[in-house]
Amino acid sequence: MMKFDFHCHSHFSDGQLSPVELVDYALEREIELLALTDHDTVDGIAVAQKYINKLTLSSGKFNFQLAAGVEISALTDFGEVHVVGLNIDSENQDLLLALKTQQGKRWQRAEKIDQQLGKLGVTGVLQECEKQVVQVITRSHIAKAIVSLGHAKDMQQAFKKYIGKKGRIKVSKGWMSLEQAISLIHEAGGISILAHPTRYPLSNKKLSLLIENFKLAGGQAMEMAYPSLNKDKRDWLKIHLDKNQLLASSGSDFHYSGLKWSDLGRFPVLDGQIPHVIHQMFPENSLIG
Ligand code: AMP
Ligand code: MN
Ligand code: MN
Ligand code: MN
Repeated sequence: MMKFDFHCHSHFSDGQLSPVELVDYALEREIELLALTDHDTVDGIAVAQKYINKLTLSSGKFNFQLAAGVEISALTDFGEVHVVGLNIDSENQDLLLALKTQQGKRWQRAEKIDQQLGKLGVTGVLQECEKQVVQVITRSHIAKAIVSLGHAKDMQQAFKKYIGKKGRIKVSKGWMSLEQAISLIHEAGGISILAHPTRYPLSNKKLSLLIENFKLAGGQAMEMAYPSLNKDKRDWLKIHLDKNQLLASSGSDFHYSGLKWSDLGRFPVLDGQIPHVIHQMFPENSLIG
């Protein structure tokens, strides 16, 4: 069966690998279709595509296709959610402008976090981040900075103590609305997907309302296969997928190599009967689940 992955990150956001290294890793993992979906940027796509074109020129035809994607942070009545856009035009001007605005908001949030951390005696975080960030600053960079400054033993602890949902740092987020994220993706010719629905801290009742709102806002698909999603939860999501007539998508949300339970191209295979975005994106692959 053809291997694909519709959700992963490069160092343009909080992934470990550069787009070139990511393509090499995908080839090593025998992935044939990869969507690069960095947080709030599409700028890694051209870098990856240029490298693929070079490989094609030097080695002739080979089986690898890159899909342009993005993972947009958006605000809803139920808090922050992530919307993946797949098969977008990564040169769409409205999209690029909105992502630039969002990247600016991310720097503003990082400054606020840095100030609050300073008051707790954790100083120099922003400066430390500036050394690592390629383009988009995320809480992963901040967590890494907290660790390297010696204020947490690992990133997990940095989230727990400081910048995670229950951490001491509280800052407001200025992300775009769900409606805007969805319409930007559609205007750029892409498919809109609600990312990892079970990872939001919501009761089942609220999650079902979120999925309904996503559909009402024009959303087209929902992730149904990712590493932390167990079968019971997937069965629950399937009911809401059907009810709202959404397509399914699959992706590893790969950030780093070396984790056993999470790797590029690794997620449960869905039942081939479930309508999947892959059928819409690549009709020639319509038999792939
Ligand atoms: P941001 O979009 O800047 O708020 O950063 C969120 C990113 O931080 C996510 O995409 C994850 O990659 C990472 N993240 C969030 N929570 C945790 C956590 N508890 N442990 C490790 N990484 C996390
Ligand atoms: Mn991330
Ligand atoms: Mn996400
Ligand atoms: Mn992600």
